[in-house]
Amino acid sequence: MMKTFFLTLLASLCLAFSYQVSANIQSADTSSPATSSATVLLYHHVADNTPASTSISPDQFKQHMEYLSQHHTVVPLQQVIEAIKNSQPLPENAVAITFDDGYQNIFDNGHPVLKSYGFPYTIFINPLEIGKSRSQLTWETIKKMQSEGASFANHTLDHLHMLNKKADETQQKWLERVWNNVVRAEAMITQNTGESLRYLAYPFGEFNNLLAEKVTSEGYIGFGQHSGAIGAMSDFGQLPRFPAAGIYANLNTLKVKLNSLAMPVMANSLGDPELVDRQLNDRISVIIETTDVRINQATCYFNGSLIPTQVSDNVISYSIEQRLPIGRSRVNCTAPSKTQSGRYYWYSQPFFIADELGRYPD
Ligand SMILES: [Zn+2]
Repeated sequence: MMKTFFLTLLASLCLAFSYQVSANIQSADTSSPATSSATVLLYHHVADNTPASTSISPDQFKQHMEYLSQHHTVVPLQQVIEAIKNSQPLPENAVAITFDDGYQNIFDNGHPVLKSYGFPYTIFINPLEIGKSRSQLTWETIKKMQSEGASFANHTLDHLHMLNKKADETQQKWLERVWNNVVRAEAMITQNTGESLRYLAYPFGEFNNLLAEKVTSEGYIGFGQHSGAIGAMSDFGQLPRFPAAGIYANLNTLKVKLNSLAMPVMANSLGDPELVDRQLNDRISVIIETTDVRINQATCYFNGSLIPTQVSDNVISYSIEQRLPIGRSRVNCTAPSKTQSGRYYWYSQPFFIADELGRYPD
């Protein structure tokens, strides 16, 4: 694995050189790096009486939207994806709004506010859950929302933990099973909305490399729940979004995230976010394209606490001394922009660890 990493490192250094050359060639282009960057917000419930960690109150949601209307340009998620994929500029401070899970309270409490500002947004739904309980949207409501600025995308049929393995299931059988779920969900969404974006938000934000590669090879875009901005060098099988509910609803901290830029990551020594061993023995090294990144001011956090971080040339390396928890956890690293004062490049690395039975907690 280390050998592979050094080969990647070598390739990346060559890549870094060619980037430098192309940056010089394109120096007549006066567009700032931020024009090819955007952030995506992630909400679930808009309500006072739903689980705190995935909820924002209707009042606070209004405050978020008011703030966006004054300081950002809200664009459809499709515009973010298409612009970044095709190296087209986006409005300064572009942000897209997304919801996961298709709750009725999004229509009751979120939709009227979004509609009043004329903000487009995307809801990732589980088609088998639609209309099943009163807390879920119906297809009829979905049609109405669609005609008023919302688009709908794939969150699997039934919100399974995609990384859960069945007993004696081979990797190939597992991938076939979960991919079949995605394809069936997409067909149901298409049938009921006439829309097929081929955007998949991984339930619980859980994925591994095999799945993310399958997503891109099938022409889909994958969205996680790790934080960060999206830019030209992002992996479109595992795009980050900023959770904006629960403890993350605080507008003061959200402002910094909304202004963040996508850390230009060229290579990463971590093979896969799905890990077997809870103890990380090796440091994790991330190679950065540093043209606009003050890499010597990089800091990394694990679960909100500062962790030992080293920087040399264009490499940030960090280590996590404590055992990783079962389920989901992540490291976030930030570093200031050289040219845009007050703006930070943001990088997030999720980790996924199953319990001893190969299953993931909610
Ligand atoms: Zn979900």
